[in-house]
Amino acid sequence: MKSFLPFYTTKIFNFSIDIKRMKSVLVIAEHNNETLTPITRNIVTAAKKIGGELTVLVAGTECSNAAKSVSQIKGLKRVVLAENKAFNGFPAENLTPLILSLQKQFSFTHIVAGATIFGKGVLPRVAAKLDVPALTDITDVKDPDVFVRPAYTGNILMTIKVKDPVKIITVRQSNFPPCSLQESSRIRDKLAVVRRAMNIHKPINNRESKFKTVQYLRLKRAAESLTKWQELRGDGAPIRQAPKGDYNLGLTEVIKRDFIKSCRPQLSEAKTIICGGKGIASKKNFELLYDLADKMNAAVGGSKSAVEAGFASKDMYIARNGKVLSPNLYIAIGISGNERDIAALKESKTIIAINKDPHAPIFKVADYGLVGDLFEIIPKLISKLQSKENTPKT
Ligand SMILES: Cc1cc2nc3c(=O)[nH]c(=O)nc-3n(C[C@H](O)[C@H](O)[C@H](O)COP(=O)(O)OP(=O)(O)OC[C@H]3O[C@@H](n4cnc5c(N)ncnc54)[C@H](O)[C@@H]3O)c2cc1C
Repeated sequence: MKSFLPFYTTKIFNFSIDIKRMKSVLVIAEHNNETLTPITRNIVTAAKKIGGELTVLVAGTECSNAAKSVSQIKGLKRVVLAENKAFNGFPAENLTPLILSLQKQFSFTHIVAGATIFGKGVLPRVAAKLDVPALTDITDVKDPDVFVRPAYTGNILMTIKVKDPVKIITVRQSNFPPCSLQESSRIRDKLAVVRRAMNIHKPINNRESKFKTVQYLRLKRAAESLTKWQELRGDGAPIRQAPKGDYNLGLTEVIKRDFIKSCRPQLSEAKTIICGGKGIASKKNFELLYDLADKMNAAVGGSKSAVEAGFASKDMYIARNGKVLSPNLYIAIGISGNERDIAALKESKTIIAINKDPHAPIFKVADYGLVGDLFEIIPKLISKLQSKENTPKT
């Protein structure tokens, strides 16, 4: 008995360590009921770095399609689907009791959302109700308890250990690449492409060329084998229904949502951003930036001064405490580049500045600088890009 006891206690000890290490992470998906917002896949990457079981919550009104897309993400334990009129417009007040009831059911060790207006609205409420701190805007996960986040407008990076049993975290999108999808979902994408091509090549009448018919049959065969392959691979993580309940606290009601339609990429997702400052001098002159942006598939933003002067709309405002941006290329045009503007563009991989003042502070952070009048430089750039477009490819 004596010799058995130490072995026995060690076993219990190891077992308790294992229990302690078991992580269970809840990710709050962002979507528009139909499709997933890309950030969801970045949040999942951060969640995977934390480790353990991964659950994704898709809450909305009629959002089963969004849930199906989530279930295609690789490595999920489950997707929880919560469809309720109370979630119309995704009000943080009504989503909070839902997340709390899931927390009661699954005892998550981490609850994670994006560092977006949505995430910043929901998670602090959840944290307050659970009486734990919320850690915002993390840029790295060192281990399940240790995270990195910027502070002092990005001038320092803090490494923080969170000792609370439940960690409430918002994630900076740009620091985590999007996670991969299940094989079957890639097949589904290919299938969609093939079906679109089939529609284009479908022979309409007898006069259609022989070539078109051959193409069509080839595509049909490809679609058949992709469908078989998809059936073999299965269809993603299981989708469970969230507990039913009256989540409408009656505190807020979303009456209308207006979406700004733009043919250009969103600022938060753009690989190239052109940002105009007070130097652009008028709303009309901003058109020059839109022309340049269209040639470069870029998004257009504005400095605080440019937005306040009415040259650019409020949703274009690039602020250190607003949208966190990390494009591959950031072109600052007519921007002086004082410390506050620079804070917002620090995450950019390459910065080009165009300013007529050679002493403008923006040149201190720019990788490439063009000293000169923007009204001469931009039209030249546009015509160069135009002539490149017109040059036939060999
Ligand atoms: C608390 C606080 C927080 C702030 N946070 C932010 C923030 O997050 N984001 C932000 O953007 N601002 C912020 N600001 C404001 C910021 O500090 C600046 O005042 C403002 O952004 C300056 O904008 P600007 O560079 O467009 O204008 P200006 O400083 O007026 O610079 C215009 C530049 O254009 C150049 N120029 C003019 N004409 C031409 C031409 N024809 N060709 C080429 N160049 C030309 C000039 O040489 C000049 O450098 C904040 C301010 C405060 C007080």
